Amino acid sequence: MQITTEQFKQASTKALKNGQIQRSLSKVSSGFEQARRRAVNELTSDVWEQYREQARQIKDHTIENLDYYLNLLTDRLEHNGAVVHFAKDSKEANAIVLDVARSRGVKTITKSKSMVSEEIGLNEVLETNGIEPIETDLGEYILQLANETPFHLVAPALHKSKKEVADLFNRKLRTSKKASIGALTLAARRELRGKFLKADMGITGVNFAVAETGTIALFTNEGNGRMSTSIPRIHMALMGMEKVVPTLEDMAVMLRILPRAATGQRITSYVTLVSGPRRPDEEDGPEEFHLVVIDNGRSKLLRDPELREALNCIRCGACLNTCPVYQSVGGHAYGWVYPGPIGSIITPVLTGLSKANDLPFASTLCGACKDACPVKINIPRMLIKLRKDLKEGDKSSRNVAISEKVAVTLWKHLTLSTGKMAFARSLGTFLQRPLTRGKFMKNIPFPPFSKWTKYRDFPSLAPRSFKKIWEKRKWQ
Ligand code: SF4
Repeated sequence: MQITTEQFKQASTKALKNGQIQRSLSKVSSGFEQARRRAVNELTSDVWEQYREQARQIKDHTIENLDYYLNLLTDRLEHNGAVVHFAKDSKEANAIVLDVARSRGVKTITKSKSMVSEEIGLNEVLETNGIEPIETDLGEYILQLANETPFHLVAPALHKSKKEVADLFNRKLRTSKKASIGALTLAARRELRGKFLKADMGITGVNFAVAETGTIALFTNEGNGRMSTSIPRIHMALMGMEKVVPTLEDMAVMLRILPRAATGQRITSYVTLVSGPRRPDEEDGPEEFHLVVIDNGRSKLLRDPELREALNCIRCGACLNTCPVYQSVGGHAYGWVYPGPIGSIITPVLTGLSKANDLPFASTLCGACKDACPVKINIPRMLIKLRKDLKEGDKSSRNVAISEKVAVTLWKHLTLSTGKMAFARSLGTFLQRPLTRGKFMKNIPFPPFSKWTKYRDFPSLAPRSFKKIWEKRKWQ
């Protein structure tokens, strides 16, 4: 997947002008976020807070002892007959998949939704090497046909209208342009059934991997995940190394919070647990089961005590759904696989801070993401830390506009002198008069305010300063 994080501002401007993207984004708050709130209310906020605290403690404990639990997971899985591979980066991870596929004569692979496979750019590698990867999650399938990347962690094709999908299926699957959503889904189902039966390998992601039993858990709403794990003769699961949890009970806590935070469901339609390949006494299941545990920059997060918390993320997407920036610009603007508030932390660390230097600033720091997060990740704190790193590190690594530099320098001089501040205030109050309507200024004609007031009103200076009001009150 191409990384375009450097174009965040241009891509955001484009998204703001795109009517279809804006219409789709309105569903994020009215759909997902409302559903999450309903699910929390149904449980009562006290119970929800208990679950959040439990989940937080499980993740903190596991990340602190990650090497222990990864070793335990490996032992258990190998005991169950699985093969466990470790990949330090995307190149190694792709090479492992390719090697297993080639050595077993694999020609077709069905894939269930996996963000980590997007992260490592697996489809491109497979295609280049003559192996056909087929996305089988409906959203991912639409994107594969459209040659696009995911827009949201949970709903990858959220930005597409029904008409766009109908036109796409008409071109690719020869369905009617007027087909209903049900008919489009059936067409995809028919097409994918044949692919499942033909596939030599199934690739899935991993929601959680249980160390004590050597089990991977998949939470899905379509049957494609279970079919990818059970029909092809080889099942290969890909996971970021932070996905391990110690016990089945811990996994059950995650099962209570993830669907509620993601889509407002009490539980996903399918919960699939896989503990290895088919046993001799079992009738179905794969002959081989492989797990690839991927680092790809996560060790950098692990080493940094201030950013380690980002590894607690369970990819529910709740922080995206509540973020005013994501709600305005959508997922593609962030330029890589992980969008929204958590993406603004993970992406700069995994791809390089200098390449994604606008992302830590793509937040109002309102704190809504922290409140929504089911594992209580303090996203604003880490965004501030990254901003600090950018300021104190390589000074050239953030493209600061000249107007911003001038404004900050001027502000610094004014705030250091009471006299200058009072003078600037009187001057500002006088100059703003022709532009002020009520308590706000609108459509200021000169930069840098012209851009800001194109979309929003700018509060005007109050007639009297706080200092003057305070002095007057003090003696009354
Ligand atoms: S940071 Fe929290 S809210 Fe955002 S995707 Fe991760 S777990 Fe969900």
